[in-house]
Amino acid sequence: SAKPEEMPEDVWDKIKDHPCYSEEAHHYFARMHVAVAPACNIQCNYCNRKYDCANESRPGVVSEKLTPDQALRKVVTVANEVPQLSVLGIAGPGDSCYDWKKTKATFDAVAKEIHDIKLCLSTNGLALPDHVDEIAQMNVDHVTVTINMVDPEIGAKIYPWIFHQHKRYTGVEAARILHERQMLSLEMLRARGILVKVNSVMIPGINDDHLLEVNKWVRERGAFLHNVMPLISAPEHGTHFGLTGQRGPTAMELKALQDKLEGGAKLMRHCRQCRADAVGLIGEDRGQEFTRDQLPGQI
Ligand code: SF4
Ligand code: SF4
Repeated sequence: SAKPEEMPEDVWDKIKDHPCYSEEAHHYFARMHVAVAPACNIQCNYCNRKYDCANESRPGVVSEKLTPDQALRKVVTVANEVPQLSVLGIAGPGDSCYDWKKTKATFDAVAKEIHDIKLCLSTNGLALPDHVDEIAQMNVDHVTVTINMVDPEIGAKIYPWIFHQHKRYTGVEAARILHERQMLSLEMLRARGILVKVNSVMIPGINDDHLLEVNKWVRERGAFLHNVMPLISAPEHGTHFGLTGQRGPTAMELKALQDKLEGGAKLMRHCRQCRADAVGLIGEDRGQEFTRDQLPGQI
């Protein structure tokens, strides 16, 4: 398949078989998620904890939470049925790095059974620096960090609180800590040769103009791709922004912003937001075929 012009060879080598990153690969390779990480260490104003992490999923759909053991059985079953399965992702439903024990146990167990599967994780970055060496040892070669701001004043409008090193922080202080840890995450991942994609949620009137500045910061810290996703405005997702809720961007607003972003931002336009327990080729969600009660054996 064709390499986008602006992309270095070594980056392309790592992503060309990854269905989330390559327009071509997503027709031939499949990825699945297992929802093993329910706990989260921050509160995003657009999140409703009943659902999956809205950072890398379709809101409004409850995912099936699995223990690492159940996840292993599910992945093995799916790998037998879906020969194109090439990537296992953990994207929640909370935060994969905060709920680290379960994420690590799942990856370790699956990598032992299926040697050539690529491991992928998505996180808000707050807890990532604590686990980056283990991530590098586990052969996770892609990480997605969701970064919605680089200015703590703006961050305070998006994140009412964070929980960091056994303490709860609020307001601008919380957003500053989150920002510093996110930038540290990018630097630590780059130093270990792990590819980083950055996701941003576009929230009109809050961070829409600011995402150009975010784009600059994350490209300087080596993110090979910056993917802007629209806030999906459902009544349950607007409540924390105030009584009137928060609208999502129009298709035109989103496209206008994506056109202004640089450095591989164009690459991800085929990508749909996907669910924490999604299975299949992108755009062809087979998650419902592989729910726990349909798997063989007692799990
Ligand atoms: Fe919700 Fe994800 Fe934000 Fe955590 S990081 S509050 S799960 S959207
Ligand atoms: Fe794709 Fe993100 Fe899942 Fe990785 S975590 S497989 S990049 S959707």
